Amino acid sequence: MRTSRQVVDYSLQKRAVLRDLHAGRVGTYDVCDASPYLKNAARFHGEPTDERCPICRSENLTHVHYIYGDELRQSAGQARSLAELPVLAMTLREFQVFVVEVCLGCDWNHLVEQFLLGRDGLAEGGPEQGAADAATTATQGRRREAQR
Ligand SMILES: [Zn+2]
Repeated sequence: MRTSRQVVDYSLQKRAVLRDLHAGRVGTYDVCDASPYLKNAARFHGEPTDERCPICRSENLTHVHYIYGDELRQSAGQARSLAELPVLAMTLREFQVFVVEVCLGCDWNHLVEQFLLGRDGLAEGGPEQGAADAATTATQGRRREAQR
C-alpha cells in the first residue's frame, strides 16, 4: 500500500541546526528542548530507530508520528503509532503526518519529514515513496510482536 505523497524532507534543516551547534552559534539548551508531551508521545507511541542521537550519541532516536487533518476532528494533533497509520490511510481521505525525531536521553528533537496519507492518493497513478515504507515497517513490527 503506497499512498504517501507531497513528502517534505527536513534533513537539510537538521544538518543546518547541527552545523550551528557545532559552530557554537546555538547551545544544546536551544536544541535539546523536547517538551514533556513530546517525550510522553515518544514513550507511548514512538517508533524506535537504529539511528544514534546526533547530540549525546548515547541513545537511539525515537520517531513520533503526529497526525493533522479536518477529518480527524478531535484526534487532530495527536501522536499515533506507525502501525496505526496504514489503517487510518484506508479510512480517511486525506491527512497530514509530521514525523519528529526525539532523544529520550538529552531531549534533542527535530522535524524529520511531513507527508500526506489517505484514500485520495490511491486513485492517483503510480506508487510513491514514504508511507509504503511506513506500512512495511509496521508489518515488520507486528511480526516482531508475534515472535515474542
Ligand atoms: Zn541525545
